[in-house]
Amino acid sequence: MAGRNLAGMNQTFAPLAPTNAVSPVIDRVETILVDLPTIRPHKLSVATMNGQTLMLVKLHCSDGVVGIGEGTTIGGLAYGGESPESMKLAIDTYFAAVMLGQDATRIQALMARIGKAVKENRFAKSAVETALLDAHGKRLGLPVSELLGGRRRDRLAVAWTLASGDTATDIAEAERMLDLRRHRIFKLKIGARDIRDDIAHVAAIKRALGDRAAVRVDVNMAWSETEAAHGMAALADAGCELVEQPVAAAAGLVRLVRRFPTALMADESLSGPESAFELARVHGADVFAVKIEQCGGCFNALRVAAIADAAGIGLYGGTMLEGAVGSIASAHAFSTFANLQWGTELFGPLLLTEEILCEPLDYSDFALTVPSGPGLGIQLDDDRVAFFARDGLRRKTRPAGQGG
Ligand SMILES: [Mg+2]
Repeated sequence: MAGRNLAGMNQTFAPLAPTNAVSPVIDRVETILVDLPTIRPHKLSVATMNGQTLMLVKLHCSDGVVGIGEGTTIGGLAYGGESPESMKLAIDTYFAAVMLGQDATRIQALMARIGKAVKENRFAKSAVETALLDAHGKRLGLPVSELLGGRRRDRLAVAWTLASGDTATDIAEAERMLDLRRHRIFKLKIGARDIRDDIAHVAAIKRALGDRAAVRVDVNMAWSETEAAHGMAALADAGCELVEQPVAAAAGLVRLVRRFPTALMADESLSGPESAFELARVHGADVFAVKIEQCGGCFNALRVAAIADAAGIGLYGGTMLEGAVGSIASAHAFSTFANLQWGTELFGPLLLTEEILCEPLDYSDFALTVPSGPGLGIQLDDDRVAFFARDGLRRKTRPAGQGG
């Protein structure tokens, strides 16, 4: 108003906002549930997954740019408080109302605005923030990594999870991955069976692979503290280099850390910068598994990494078993970390039988290439997405009795 009054008094006063400098706004928020089969059952202590549901967000902006984001969970509601369906509902009903008509270029300001209207819902926030970053990167012609401060590496080491539940099958799978030069870090999902069976399983796999590969385990909080004390000692003897979240409580992690010659990683205990700070304060982990969804988005993942660096805690790029969109958003964030001592586990897209990108991701020489194009640097194959969308073409053409 003041500017307009001044302009009224002085005819040479420049217009406040030339038409071509008006910021694009968010016109439409679209969400899609996509159901994809996995290459094999994926067995965790919390669930056995036979498929994965991706919740994709498309932000349609007034300048014609469309940003994409993704939210996924592990085993529906088995891992945490959000599911793909709940994310879709939250975004359609609550996020969209706050976002429509807002400046699409002010990402952090808009995320703060959403934060005032929507508590928790970190996975959904990550999906929406990813879509904003993708859109703005496309608009500026810059990769998302550059919007996040600038990448330090173009390639990320990627661990593979052996989770068939059968020792011989897992060894054969690991050998195949080594032959393909795709992975040489293997994470075993344990905790669902008797602890002695699990230890024997891990020891047999490490014996078979020897120095050709690193073996780590993820217990997904399944052990009591007593079991963990016994288990970590035995795992150290078996040559396992890292144990991920053996118990649920942060206090339990504190009592276990540094007692055994194997690194202790926090995963489920990390839910963003506040929990990262608290874990660092009580010395509750040697390594943080950073996940953009757990953190509530890429910017918060960067904040968690900064806390880890300041506390002398190692970093690992974790996955919520996202498909290509969420995995690549994670890759952009992890590529900017000052330290990434333990590599990543961004193998989610490889667990799915179906490609939903126009061009597949580059997994080669034990690493994933971070795309260098604008935004996320990937393009959805919209026909494939429509085919696998819930209530999409695949379901309509499926013979009766073949529910999935
Ligand atoms: Mg984990």
